[in-house]
Amino acid sequence: MRLSFFALSVLGIAAGIVACSSQTDQPGEVHEDARPPNGDEASPSFDASPSQDAASPDTALGEAQTTVEAQVPVEAHAPGEAQARGDSENHVFDSVDKNHLLKLLQDLTGGNPITVNGATFRITNRWAPGAKADFRSYWKQYFVDLGATVNELTFPVAQSLVGESQGHNVEAILPGRSADSVVIIVHYDSVGITGQETANPAADDDGSGLAMQMEAARIFAQSKDRAYTLRFVAADYEEITTLQGDDAYAQYLQGEAQQKGFKILVASDNDQTAWSCWDEALCGPGAPAANTSFQMISCSGDIHAYSYPDLAMGFVDVATKYSPTMKVDTSCDGAGDTDHYSFWKIGVPAYVIDEYSANKNPHFDDTGDDTMQHINLDYFLHISQIQITFQSRLAGIKF
Ligand SMILES: [Zn+2]
Repeated sequence: MRLSFFALSVLGIAAGIVACSSQTDQPGEVHEDARPPNGDEASPSFDASPSQDAASPDTALGEAQTTVEAQVPVEAHAPGEAQARGDSENHVFDSVDKNHLLKLLQDLTGGNPITVNGATFRITNRWAPGAKADFRSYWKQYFVDLGATVNELTFPVAQSLVGESQGHNVEAILPGRSADSVVIIVHYDSVGITGQETANPAADDDGSGLAMQMEAARIFAQSKDRAYTLRFVAADYEEITTLQGDDAYAQYLQGEAQQKGFKILVASDNDQTAWSCWDEALCGPGAPAANTSFQMISCSGDIHAYSYPDLAMGFVDVATKYSPTMKVDTSCDGAGDTDHYSFWKIGVPAYVIDEYSANKNPHFDDTGDDTMQHINLDYFLHISQIQITFQSRLAGIKF
């Protein structure tokens, strides 16, 4: 993602983007000016949504948050339940493995040879049809090994783009007690300098999001109980064409939900989470201490007024509660250039996270220098810990 975000930055246009990065933040703070002018109460929100059932009022919320909680059904909690949740979340947070994140990133960027079904290859890009097929066979095998059910979903695309007439999304399902679903969606396609797309390994955009997603699945597959069904999705044609694969998946899942009678509860998106502007002195004035902040976007801040403040509050609660170093900048971005946006369009609560000052990243999309050299593994770990822990809360995961 981020092509249009980058373009806006280059042009000096701030419309649709309310950046919080230059402010002096306190941990846990949700900026009031990050809300769309006509957003909040009037808009559907995660916990106030009619799609929520009585079993899920607190899945996205922190204890500190009271006003929204009062709007939803109150669930009687068994004694010790909060403690159990805290223990489970602590376990998830501590289970995020830096070395495994690195291994996954190396797998995804050609650093490691991959063997699937007797074939050995390296995933050097995710632009060419053959390279994308290699990625998919790797990703599917990983999820099958975790015990997930894997589906490949095709949709038509213009043959002139990369020489294929179909795009291919892949979905891996880890069932929960309820078929109501939490979607963790990340795009796998990449671009690069025009004509040199196959030279771009796309480490940050969105190898980082894929590695984080795969690490979440590794941890969640070991849980003793999942309240909701998890759907991990690697989307095609987010980057090559804007959101075509994400739109196709959102529509597919909406049809499945209607046909089979389950709810799509929320969509969570990791996009560009491992590049550090501090490492290259590109953060701009007013930045917080190095590698201590990143962005979470759950509102559009534009005429569409997509706004899910409960997700922002829950996310900030997790960061505040568990992370010793990181804080979250919650902001609005209506650019519509990454995976979660397709869910906003169908009325499903959704959000995306990305690195601090992602719009200043000079190594993504058509700049084509998105390599492991520009990855900050510790920064990536600290963001992953928070995102994966929040995702475990959304899915009602217990250890
Ligand atoms: Zn992206």
